[in-house]
Amino acid sequence: MKKLLMIGGGVSGNAVAELSAALDIECCVTSDVQAAQEDLDKIFAGVDLVVVSPGVLPTSKLYNAAVERNIEVISELELGVRYFPGPMVAVTGTNGKTTTVELTEFILNKLGVRAVAAGNIGLPLSAVSAKILRGEIAHAEELVAVLEVSSFQLKHTHQLPAVAAVLLNIESDHINRYPGGISEYQAVKERIFAQVPPENRFYGMSMSGRNQCGKFAIAANQLYCENSVLLDLSESALSAPHNQENLLAAISLCSCVTDLSVQKSELAAAVREFKTGDHRISLVAEKNGVKYIDDSKATNPAAVIAAVKSLQKQMQNNIILIAGGLDKDMDFAPLAALSKYLKKVIVYGRCGNRIAGVFAGKNEVFDAGSDFALAVKTAHASAESGDIVLLSPAAASMDMFKDYKERGNKFAELVSKL
Ligand code: ADP
Repeated sequence: MKKLLMIGGGVSGNAVAELSAALDIECCVTSDVQAAQEDLDKIFAGVDLVVVSPGVLPTSKLYNAAVERNIEVISELELGVRYFPGPMVAVTGTNGKTTTVELTEFILNKLGVRAVAAGNIGLPLSAVSAKILRGEIAHAEELVAVLEVSSFQLKHTHQLPAVAAVLLNIESDHINRYPGGISEYQAVKERIFAQVPPENRFYGMSMSGRNQCGKFAIAANQLYCENSVLLDLSESALSAPHNQENLLAAISLCSCVTDLSVQKSELAAAVREFKTGDHRISLVAEKNGVKYIDDSKATNPAAVIAAVKSLQKQMQNNIILIAGGLDKDMDFAPLAALSKYLKKVIVYGRCGNRIAGVFAGKNEVFDAGSDFALAVKTAHASAESGDIVLLSPAAASMDMFKDYKERGNKFAELVSKL
């Protein structure tokens, strides 16, 4: 490889530049994905590898120009994989990737197996590989990379020889990026298994219907090892059904790297200690008996359903849902199943009216338009002691916020001022 062109800047672009520098390869990073026709020859002169960031759309002119010129196009992940010497395990799916990756990394480290979470989680694997090439990580061949892999990265990843991989679930999301709809989306996700030994290919509980992996099983809120209870999950942050799915997935991956059954008590302690990340069904305040919950990371209906199901165990018909945001052409109809648990639905943002349509005639609905503060204020005014105000948007945040974190933080700030 002589010269690399990175299409797309940001975190991935920086990591690719860093890895190229460590490899002593010329690298040009461009965020101008729609470059002018007359500039293309200059841009591609001498380029023999193109790396695309996950945000680059298939319609991007630069991407298509690379394909037309028969230049190899790979993802940032694949570039990182090529220079990563240790074992890898990989996680994909619509929901639960970050939680599963963080949990897998946490368990492995607690059990004395060095692991690093990388990929879509915010630390590109190329940045880890660059560090290794610079000699900044000792015994890198023993370091396990726990990879969060998005469907966008998988599309351009041809080499991912992971020891084990899990596909958690497939739900309607990001469908606007797939002309072939959900079957094309699933086919891309299944690519995670291409180079994984068949016995180490796992599906999430909701897809496989199985609650067991090897010596471990989850049933009735208990984690079992060889038919004896290892941990009552109500003592952990992972008792909700969707988090049990993530736990079993993490255990499946860890089992392919180390023998968990010889460190059962350490495993139980790690699960008990693990905390799920912010903006995922996180209690931000309790005021006058009303709980305010930030689930800003819920960017599709399936995640909202998981949130309401995990909360409605405690209460029925007492949830005031705040939902809305950027429209990704998602099918919101499955949200209708939540109707009976909801006291009121408050919508806002670009797809607020489509979500309102799902609940019209079934629930009291209020449309706050583009006024997020009004949405929170209205929820507060409708809540009585014992109720839950749940921000679980079912949509992306970028119509009104930088990202889901900013949206969740804004919610917490507005709640603190109530
Ligand atoms: P991802 O990285 O795939 O977006 P996260 O772990 O960040 O996944 O969780 C995203 C949202 O989905 C959160 O609202 C969370 O509560 C919910 N969630 C987490 N795991 C699952 C699951 N297995 N099934 C459905 N929803 C889930």
